[in-house]
Amino acid sequence: MAEAPEIATGADWPELREAVARLCARFPGEYWRQLDRERAYPEAFVRALGEAGLFGILVPEAYGGLGLPLRAASVVLETIHAAGCSAAACHAQMYTMGTLLRHGSEEQKRRFLPKIATGELRLQAFAVTEPGSGSDTPAISTRAERRGDRYVVTGQKIWTSRALHSDLMLLLARTTPLERVKRRSDGLSVFLVDLREAKGRGLEIRPIETMINHHTTQIFMDGLELPLDSLVGEEGRGFACILDGMNAERILIASECLGDARWFLRRACDYARERQVFGRPIGQNQGIQFDLARAYAATEAADLVVRKACARFDAGLACGAEANMAKLLAAEASWAAGEAAMQTLGGFAFACAFDVERKWRETRLYRIAPVSTHLILAHIAHHVLGLPKSY
Ligand SMILES: Cc1cc2nc3c(=O)[nH]c(=O)nc-3n(C[C@H](O)[C@H](O)[C@H](O)COP(=O)(O)OP(=O)(O)OC[C@H]3O[C@@H](n4cnc5c(N)ncnc54)[C@H](O)[C@@H]3O)c2cc1C
Repeated sequence: MAEAPEIATGADWPELREAVARLCARFPGEYWRQLDRERAYPEAFVRALGEAGLFGILVPEAYGGLGLPLRAASVVLETIHAAGCSAAACHAQMYTMGTLLRHGSEEQKRRFLPKIATGELRLQAFAVTEPGSGSDTPAISTRAERRGDRYVVTGQKIWTSRALHSDLMLLLARTTPLERVKRRSDGLSVFLVDLREAKGRGLEIRPIETMINHHTTQIFMDGLELPLDSLVGEEGRGFACILDGMNAERILIASECLGDARWFLRRACDYARERQVFGRPIGQNQGIQFDLARAYAATEAADLVVRKACARFDAGLACGAEANMAKLLAAEASWAAGEAAMQTLGGFAFACAFDVERKWRETRLYRIAPVSTHLILAHIAHHVLGLPKSY
C-alpha cells in the first residue's frame, strides 16, 4: 500500500512548527473530547501555550514579547489545528492586543503589553457584535457617554467569546449618536475594560450555549463606569482601530482553517487507505478520492493566499483584500475537507471517538464568524471589483 504523504506544505518556520507540534502532542483527542462533553475551558492547554511564550509572539520585544511577524503566529495556529487541537479558546490573546499596540498610549502599552505577553493578564475578549446590529457594525447602539472624569456605558453585546476567561476586554461603543455623524463609521470609540473591576458593577456576563465548546457570552452593561484612560486611540475614531485589527484576525483564523483542513485530510486519507469494503480499500474509489483531492487542492490554493496576506501585513502594506480572501478561501477549504472526511468515514464519522464530528462542527463556524462569507464577497465585489456597494 502507498505510504501516507505529508499533508502539510509548511516549510517556513520549521523549528516553530516542531515545537508547537510537540506541545500539541500532549493534548490528544481524548483531552478535547472530554472538554467538549463537559463544555469546559481548555485551561491546561492555554497555560501550556502561555508557558511556551506563544501569547507574546506578536508583542514587540520592547514590551516583553517575542516580536515575531504575523506569519509566525499564522504558522503556530495552523500547526495547532493540524494537530487536532483548537486555539479558539485563546487565539485572541495573540492578536487582540494589536489594537492596543497600534493605537494605545505609551502608558497603556507599558502597563498592559508585558503582562499580556506572558499570559499573566488575559486580553482575549472583543465586544463588537450586538443583537440589533449583526454584521452592520456602525449600527451598534451601545453608548459611552462622557460625564466628568468617566465614561458611562449602557448597552448590550452578543457573542463576546471568552469574556468569562478574560481579565480585559476591548469594547466598541458609540460616543456620538449615529444621527450626529457625517459617516456612519464616525463617532465610535474603543475602550479597554478591566473585567475584574467591571463585573457586578454595571456589567454582567451570561454564557450562551452553542453547538461547539466556544465559551461565548452576552454582555449587559447598565451604567458601567470607565475611567477616561480606558479609551484606546482617539475618541470617535474607533472603527478604524478595530478594522485594522480585523485584518490580522482574518489571516490568523484562515490559518486555523488551513490546519483544520490538513487534519481532516490526513485523518480521512488514513482511513480511506485502511478501510476495506467490497474487498478493496474505499480510497480506491474515485467517489472517495475526488472529494479529498479537490479539498486538498483548495487547501493549497488558500495556503498561498494566506502567505500573501501575511507577507503584505508584515511589510506594512494594505492587505484588506488579501486578508478577506484568505479567510474566505481557507474557511471553504476546511469545510470541503470536513465534508469529505465525514463522507469518507461514513457511519464512523458520527462516532465521537474519531473526532471528525467535533472538528466538523468547529470548523463550520468560520464561514460565519468573525465575518461571514457573504460579507467578504460583498467587500471584494465593492472594494476590489469596483461594483456598487450592496450593504
Ligand atoms: C461562536 C461565535 C463566536 C463569536 N465571537 C465573537 C466575538 O468574540 N466578538 C464579536 O464581536 N463577535 C463575535 N461573533 C459574532 C460574529 O462576528 C457574527 O455572528 C458575524 O459577524 C455575523 O453576524 P450575525 O450573526 O449578527 O449575522 P447577521 O448579520 O444577522 O447575518 C445573518 C446572515 O445574513 C447574511 N447577510 C447579512 N447582511 C447581508 C448582506 N448585506 N449581504 C449578503 N448577506 C448578508 C450574513 O452573511 C449571514 O449569513 C461570534 C459569533 C459566533 C457564532
